[in-house]
Amino acid sequence: MSSIAGQTWDIVVVGAGAAGAAIAARASEDPQRSVLLLDAGPDYPLATNLPTDLHNGHDNSYVDHDWGLSYNPLGDRSDRFPRGRVTGGSTAVNTTIALRGIPADYDGWAQLGNPAWGWDQVLPVFNRLERDLDYGAEPYHGDAGPISIRRWTEDELVPTQAAFIEAALEHGFPASADVNAPDAVGVGPMAMNKLGRLRISTAIGYLASARYRDNLTIRPDTLVNRVLVEDGQAVGIETGAGDHIAARLVVISSGAVHTPGVLIRSGIGSADELASLGVEPVATMEGVGANLSDHPALAIVMSPKFPEFCAPDLPLVQTICRYTSEGSNTPLDVNIELMTRTGSRSGEPMFMLAPSLEQVDGRGAVRQTSLAPDSMPSIQPHFGENERDVARHVRALQDAFALTRLAPLREFIDQVHFPDPSRSSRADLAQVARRVSASGYHPCGTAKMGPVEDPLAVVDQFGRCHGVDQLVVADASIMPTVPRANINLSTIMIGEMVGEWLRTEPARYGL
Ligand SMILES: Cc1cc2nc3c(=O)[nH]c(=O)nc-3n(C[C@H](O)[C@H](O)[C@H](O)COP(=O)(O)OP(=O)(O)OC[C@H]3O[C@@H](n4cnc5c(N)ncnc54)[C@H](O)[C@@H]3O)c2cc1C
Repeated sequence: MSSIAGQTWDIVVVGAGAAGAAIAARASEDPQRSVLLLDAGPDYPLATNLPTDLHNGHDNSYVDHDWGLSYNPLGDRSDRFPRGRVTGGSTAVNTTIALRGIPADYDGWAQLGNPAWGWDQVLPVFNRLERDLDYGAEPYHGDAGPISIRRWTEDELVPTQAAFIEAALEHGFPASADVNAPDAVGVGPMAMNKLGRLRISTAIGYLASARYRDNLTIRPDTLVNRVLVEDGQAVGIETGAGDHIAARLVVISSGAVHTPGVLIRSGIGSADELASLGVEPVATMEGVGANLSDHPALAIVMSPKFPEFCAPDLPLVQTICRYTSEGSNTPLDVNIELMTRTGSRSGEPMFMLAPSLEQVDGRGAVRQTSLAPDSMPSIQPHFGENERDVARHVRALQDAFALTRLAPLREFIDQVHFPDPSRSSRADLAQVARRVSASGYHPCGTAKMGPVEDPLAVVDQFGRCHGVDQLVVADASIMPTVPRANINLSTIMIGEMVGEWLRTEPARYGL
């Protein structure tokens, strides 16, 4: 530790996940800028030496590189809440679904007082981060970025996945060849950031080449406790082991679940939470840990007629149907995915349809239970408490039920086990939505960006903390609202934006 603690770094980035790895890689493109990237998890510099769980993008990694968090989605049952603990962060353990939100998501961020994030501003950044192997260089695609993306071809689809597309078309959804087109709607092959099985995490996409730069140091296995603040200005960080590392700028990219904890332990948070934990306030900010958004998901669990199509070796997800729930005035507010397999209590092979709510009105929170740097926060999603959310989710569940009854999919289903098909009235399904909605693993919004007048804004549109100078937050926490798509690409985009600003406009960050 002494070698990194003995100097003042230009930039220290806390967390090497979707955003942090991109920030460190882009900012260190300036050879004059010293950058230290810290992560609590291990680092695997060579893709050839990756442990199987990180290599195998056909399945999620839930145990070996995970923080071991759990939550009580609806108060009365405990469930895991996976988060990657390794360089690459959750991008190193995830399903590799590579979806963009829709233009209205980012225009919405701009309208909330963040004009740098409108669709016209972020589109070139989405193009820059991808190497789209199907579409190449197009007005809305890129062919030279660090994250390789491709869609499944027809002959690669597991038969149940192909049947899902057929059933959705028969139901009347349009075909969507490119699910990342700005006007995409309907059913099609999923865009994914993996090559063969190899998951293209940000550790591979961004750090594999950047790590050889003299001005970038990556330090794994380093849990960060808090930001050191003197006279209203961040001056470095303290590790869990008590070492102090000096920095001219501190960037927190620990993810929407862990970033609030780093801030609270630094004295930055709501007056009540700081007081309850006995932390001396440095900057009182009500938005820290508030405004938690996610994609609540439900499941129709089915036993298969052909168990071989649920084999553990097959890709978990290959298709998606994105659409607007009936009667809703919020475009593309739901989607349905077919999961090739799912766990069951009996151990029997099962597969499922997962309708997910993509735009939520309800909000949750992440609260600290202790000041220990590796303590488990209390994740409180408050799913199923907002009636408009419940109503739209129920309609998506009804649509998914309708798909199970159509011939293309029906011939693969032995039995629908849950929810009980004989109890599928709107009222029954609303009960299901209230009882068993679970996280889509897309937490965001817990240190949201916005103008200083917004009482819940923690950072401005450039990620600069409203209450403390030389402190930036840049990860999924700063999203003011959840985009209507799995959020990995949007989080990498945030890292690209802030990393490029650090490189090209350092004065904005006091560098
Ligand atoms: C199982 C799973 C499946 C998913 N599937 C998909 C998918 O298919 N498509 C999609 O779009 N999204 C998916 N996601 C979500 C997506 O991966 C995340 O939204 C995204 O990675 C969040 O980026 P982030 O930078 O905010 O946080 P992360 O990528 O989680 O990075 C945070 C990093 O900070 C480190 N860290 C945290 N606290 C500290 C600390 N105190 N000190 C030091 N380091 C710290 C962590 O170890 C981690 O490396 C999935 C997530 C999971 C867990």
